[in-house]
Amino acid sequence: MPITYLNGRYVPHKRAVVSVDDRGYVFSDGIYEVAAVQNGIILDWELHLKRLHRSLGAVKIAAPCSDAALRNIIHQVMAHNGMENGYFYIQVTRGVAPRAHAFPKKPVRPSLMVSVLSMKPPTAKEYKEGVAVITRTDLRWLRRDIKSISLLPNIMAKQEAVEHKVKEAWLVMPDGNISEGSSTNAFIVTQEGVIRTHPADNSILGGITRDVLLMLARKDGINIDETPFTCDDVARAAEAFLSSTTAGALPVVTIDGKKIGSGTPGPVTKRLIELFNEHCARQT
Ligand code: PMP
Repeated sequence: MPITYLNGRYVPHKRAVVSVDDRGYVFSDGIYEVAAVQNGIILDWELHLKRLHRSLGAVKIAAPCSDAALRNIIHQVMAHNGMENGYFYIQVTRGVAPRAHAFPKKPVRPSLMVSVLSMKPPTAKEYKEGVAVITRTDLRWLRRDIKSISLLPNIMAKQEAVEHKVKEAWLVMPDGNISEGSSTNAFIVTQEGVIRTHPADNSILGGITRDVLLMLARKDGINIDETPFTCDDVARAAEAFLSSTTAGALPVVTIDGKKIGSGTPGPVTKRLIELFNEHCARQT
């Protein structure tokens, strides 16, 4: 059984249990982070750590330990699980206190959990042939930039995607713009070869993979346009793709059953997959 770190102890995953008064359990009062490990190296760790601190700061939860201690815990979890390649999960909640909406008057210790994730990356076939997405209404709050564990609208949208046998649901805001996917960022490539994606403001979770892909694309001479796009823009696009820590860059070839561009992964997306793989390999 996997070994999980919880509040100072490394325990078999099934025995990693929290109080029913943990504010994560009661209120979703917490934040999380997911990062990938390749050949024993945590990919883009500094970027994930920065986002973790940003999320903690935004919801006023104190850091549960120093950055060095956290890194040590992650390496211990990796060692306990013999993990060389895969993904790990960090969750910090405000801690255990009797149920009341306001923060506990007497500060409590935040709860920290670090575990390995059994998530699988997309298959070789999905990278080669691309995946399908559907659109759904974006039902979320106004601070999607915080990596909050409060994910009910994301869960509902992803479940619809599963029930429609597609990879992802792209979320449409009241103004008609697509913010992102339920657990991934969303991109199109215009007929002019420009990558277009929603700016990293409060309407989306600023994906680490998104940032890395945009940085790599710029360096490669690909133009970027960080302005929101609509379903009509997708219909006119040459290519589309999604991004996340577990998917990297993944071609999207249909939306709501309609082909995007040629209906096959395009050259810009393929180039990004190559650049991203090289970027990961350089760190290991
Ligand atoms: N958007 C949402 C809503 C997410 O949950 C995620 C992460 N699962 C992403 C985008 C992608 O972020 P990252 O590249 O950091 O995994």
